[in-house]
Amino acid sequence: MTGGEVSFERPDVQFLIDPEADTVECSNHSAFVYGRYRKLERDIPQTKWPCNACQGSGYIGQQQCEKCDGVGLLYETSVEQLTAPVVCDVMDGTETSFHGAGREDVDARMLGTGRPFVIEVFEPRRRDVNTVRLEGDINAFAEDMVEVTGLRLATYNIVEWVKELDASKRYRAVVSFDERVDEDAFTQAVSSLENSSIEQRTPRRVSHRRADITRTREVYQMGGELHTPTKAVVDIHTAGGLYIKELISSDEGRTEPSLAELLEVSATVNKLDVTGVYGESAPFEKDTLFRDDRIVESPTQVSPQSSEWMCTRVNQRS
Ligand SMILES: [Zn+2]
Repeated sequence: MTGGEVSFERPDVQFLIDPEADTVECSNHSAFVYGRYRKLERDIPQTKWPCNACQGSGYIGQQQCEKCDGVGLLYETSVEQLTAPVVCDVMDGTETSFHGAGREDVDARMLGTGRPFVIEVFEPRRRDVNTVRLEGDINAFAEDMVEVTGLRLATYNIVEWVKELDASKRYRAVVSFDERVDEDAFTQAVSSLENSSIEQRTPRRVSHRRADITRTREVYQMGGELHTPTKAVVDIHTAGGLYIKELISSDEGRTEPSLAELLEVSATVNKLDVTGVYGESAPFEKDTLFRDDRIVESPTQVSPQSSEWMCTRVNQRS
């Protein structure tokens, strides 16, 4: 009838025909675009961050909110706002949802190979988009604040996969000490943290929104260089969920062991970058989650014939 392929798994568009009620319901399911983002500037959150004083409205009563100057957001932009509108526009959807594989601190950059993410587009009128062109469009729109790579059209299973897959992380931290540190002591402290288990109580800086628990996380690799007696750069590869700022500072003894404790000085992370995000048990890019077969060559255009259709008669389901 339409020339489309019939899919009995999860179709793009689903008709629900109810002969008794004489109704046809049509659901246009979401489309999913997977990729990795690099966040090249600090102080950009991953997702839209509404102002907590005015709940994002920009107003308190009749007055313009002073905390956000009436904008309704605590941060002007976000990775979500720099990417999702372009995808929504190209797929001609109604709304989007941004799903990240974890998130870095607002003040940390995301470099290296980037962090996996999925943009879900609701009620798209266009599904077969040229992902190479889309990538270029997003990168032009994001103006060097954010950069995306490896965009692929994905199935709906991608969201759970990206959000649930345990991931290890690589970090680079610029660290300063309040007292002079001896080079040998530094090298020894760094190598004793490598391959060690860290007992970490929920950091004070997040304890207002996270349960106060103690957990154990592994440091897989650690290296570093003392640039001056009070300044160092440290590279760390750890299991997901380890708080790096506290691994360095000790957070008043709540993280054990820590670089500060081993060196018997006060240590602070001045700058932090995430340089890699890796699936622990499997790579994020699992082939069965993608629909690369559907990439069309430019020009990008609507092709209704390639949507997958499914009709379900209500009285046949049970
Ligand atoms: Zn506000």
